[in-house]
Amino acid sequence: MKEAIVANLELVHLRIKNACKQAGRDTNDVQLLLATKTVPAEKIRIAIEAGEKLIGENKVQEFSAKDEGLTGLNIERHFIGHLQTNKIKEVLKFASCIQSLDRLKVAQELDRRLQVEGRSTEVFVQVNTSYEQSKFGILPDEAVAFIRTIKNYDTLTIRGLMTIGLLDVEKERMRPSLILLRETRDKILHEGIEGIENLKLSMGMSQDLEMAITEGTNLVRVGTAIFGNRFLGKEIWNENIAE
Ligand SMILES: *Cc1c(COP(=O)(O)O)cnc(C)c1O
Repeated sequence: MKEAIVANLELVHLRIKNACKQAGRDTNDVQLLLATKTVPAEKIRIAIEAGEKLIGENKVQEFSAKDEGLTGLNIERHFIGHLQTNKIKEVLKFASCIQSLDRLKVAQELDRRLQVEGRSTEVFVQVNTSYEQSKFGILPDEAVAFIRTIKNYDTLTIRGLMTIGLLDVEKERMRPSLILLRETRDKILHEGIEGIENLKLSMGMSQDLEMAITEGTNLVRVGTAIFGNRFLGKEIWNENIAE
């Protein structure tokens, strides 16, 4: 088990490195996040001890369930799943960044809770670049207005935009989603909104990380290529049933 995870990690880093080289990009501009949904703590521990630092969970209860198994490790945890407002207090105990900010109500509730705790958190705005019902996220056309609104919450540090995109057996069908996230970012930056001078892109997963690097991602979220199949069946990408 350990050998497989370490070997897979090496392979993923090699893929990132090669894709960066091809795209003429600096490897340091692309961070790797381990998507650890359904992965037990002992497997995550192997990856962290092999040098990884950043993990992402889709379910709030998986953070608490694995917390004890991860004690003593220096990790940064992001939340990447669909966030229900009644889980906000709990998610803030574990995550330093919410990558899936997808509606105003969540921004309001995050702000309310963070005010109480007297602190802030980082966020990515999730954008539905594939226009699928099965995916959450604001629509690309709403992005500028959404950023202008949530910018008023001092407790939220806007780090960038996140998308899942169109997953298809035909890999090239993903590319328009990735391009759309980049264009949405550029459109926001073009507005010259005060305090929004730099936005990162979180996109690219096991099957499309090279393409995402070509299209400008700064953070790839990889699960399957490191930890193997999750055996969740074909409904895995319906975010509506993720929690
Ligand atoms: C599971 C998941 C990933 C990783 O997907 P893989 O295909 O397993 O690499 C990335 N992002 C999100 C939001 C996920 O839920």
